[in-house]
Amino acid sequence: LVVVKDINKHYGELHVLKNINATVNRGEVVVVIGPSGSGKSTLCRAINRLETIDDGVITIDGVKLAEEGKALAHLRADVGMVFQAFNLFAHKTVLDNVTLGPIKVRGMKKADAEKRAMALLDRVGVANQAKKMPAQLSGGQQQRVAIARALAMDPKVILLDEPTSALDPEMINEVLEVMIDLANDGMTMIVVTHEMGFARKAADRVIFMSEGEIVEEATPEQFFTNPQSTRAQDFLSKIL
Ligand code: ATP
Ligand code: MG
Repeated sequence: LVVVKDINKHYGELHVLKNINATVNRGEVVVVIGPSGSGKSTLCRAINRLETIDDGVITIDGVKLAEEGKALAHLRADVGMVFQAFNLFAHKTVLDNVTLGPIKVRGMKKADAEKRAMALLDRVGVANQAKKMPAQLSGGQQQRVAIARALAMDPKVILLDEPTSALDPEMINEVLEVMIDLANDGMTMIVVTHEMGFARKAADRVIFMSEGEIVEEATPEQFFTNPQSTRAQDFLSKIL
């Protein structure tokens, strides 16, 4: 579903993505882990076209992400994105946050969008917060709204970049549970996270990045019990 082929990215002198190749199949859950600065977020942003790449090709469901895509909004809509910092629209209600994309980009009627949004908010356990403003919600609730908002676009794949790392500990699990539900539901997901519990429970595959390269790719079981590279061994010894 997502094919990343020979992509490179520089920020000035810094080679942040070094000839990255990766494939994510439909229904697959891939966890990306690696040290700070290894290029995980840059890779996510490239896949969502929030970032340009120097060379290489990214295709989503057979559609190439070209430089000058006229259907960029639609392409982006196919890739749901949830960030570390709750990036909800602060001046819109929770419900409006979830309906805005479907109405603007998908051309959905307001009433239909609201009905669907309520179902999604219910699914992530925050339907009773629909009329509130984001600032009135806890971090965990906001992050669940962000997931509902991503799902509202009916994306083909959803990218979550450290979705729990800005949360207070007691709110992490409520978000991870929603993510595990999604994974069990067959959603195609790329998740940057250091939450090993999530990786073990939900990931089909772990990709380990270091210094802009994919150093290792394995099942969670293999990766956590028997990492092959010294870089992965070092990294795991620090976080486990
Ligand atoms: P973290 O775990 O801290 O989120 P990461 O693996 O997501 O790290 P990236 O955010 O992808 O890492 O950053 C990779 C490298 O690119 C880092 O060295 C970072 O400083 C650099 N970088 C990221 N964004 C930019 C930018 N807009 N301009 C210049 N350098 C950048
Ligand atoms: Mg990052």
